[in-house]
Amino acid sequence: MGGMTATTDQATKRVLLAAPRGYCAGVDRAVVTVEKALDLYGAPVYVRKEIVHNKHVVTTLEKRGAIFVEETDEVPEGATVIFSAHGVAPVVHEEAKALGLKTIDATCPLVTKVHREAVRFASDDYDILLIGHEGHEEVVGTAGEAPEHITLVDGPDDVDNVTVRDPDKVVWLSQTTLSVDETMETVRRLREKFPQLQDPPSDDICYATQNRQLAVKHMAPDCDLMIVVGSRNSSNSVRLVEVALEHGSKAGHLVDYAEEIDETWLDGVRTVGVTSGASVPEILVRGVLDYLSSRGFEDVRPVVAAEESLMFSLPNEIRRDLKAAGLSDKMRHDGSFAEAGSLH
Ligand code: SF4
Repeated sequence: MGGMTATTDQATKRVLLAAPRGYCAGVDRAVVTVEKALDLYGAPVYVRKEIVHNKHVVTTLEKRGAIFVEETDEVPEGATVIFSAHGVAPVVHEEAKALGLKTIDATCPLVTKVHREAVRFASDDYDILLIGHEGHEEVVGTAGEAPEHITLVDGPDDVDNVTVRDPDKVVWLSQTTLSVDETMETVRRLREKFPQLQDPPSDDICYATQNRQLAVKHMAPDCDLMIVVGSRNSSNSVRLVEVALEHGSKAGHLVDYAEEIDETWLDGVRTVGVTSGASVPEILVRGVLDYLSSRGFEDVRPVVAAEESLMFSLPNEIRRDLKAAGLSDKMRHDGSFAEAGSLH
């Protein structure tokens, strides 16, 4: 009898695997930039801040000779420093120049787009309400483009505190990795307060953030548990857990590695949703799927919310040097870490 029950349980255990998940075009480009810089210039190569917010990526690159620093003044004179995918304020470029550093800017082009919007609206003397998480590197970088014009709005509850010079000349912009729904709620409240509030010229929350949230929304109502692979400082990964819980998943957890999964999470669970943030190499998702498979979750069904094919070329600074050295300046799509294997 017991055996029968086990078989039935086995048969109903399943995994819903989100697509898209994992690496976005901006992360892929930033990680490959550091790898190519190591190939080209040799170790060490300095990187200001975590190149992307993922523990595994950072430790793997450290082992290859990347040195992560908080600020440019920690980089020896004349050395090469790479700026992370999250972007930097103009003052950081100036500091690097003053220190005689060679810089490679791996800022995601979709973050750069928001910087340009900030510059443009500031030059038209707008008050810019930047929706984002206080202290996040991307927000610090964007706000640094026009500090005197930008006010940070950290979610709907922050709206009450916002004041502007002229309510007829206000625009909102946002961090690229926010919850779409929460941001719309923040905008709704802002518009209640400032009816003339203008929208950004195009979506600031990027395609990758939107698509990963969409896939989770599709899956969540069927999930007893959602496992999101990602690091705690990864904004878009943290949002995926929130979106899962808001849309019906009975539980949701963020893990860097399969080893962080607590066996008890699986108690009574039939359907597990699996996804990963935009900074997460696929090898870590494989680890989670292997773990689940060893506990009877062998039936893996993809849930496809969108197709993605966007790819960015490498930053000009490194493409130029790669070409001069006769090396390929082509991007490899998400192959970097699968090839390197699991190094943790
Ligand atoms: S999450 Fe979006 S904005 Fe951030 S690096 Fe990826 S594509 Fe660029």
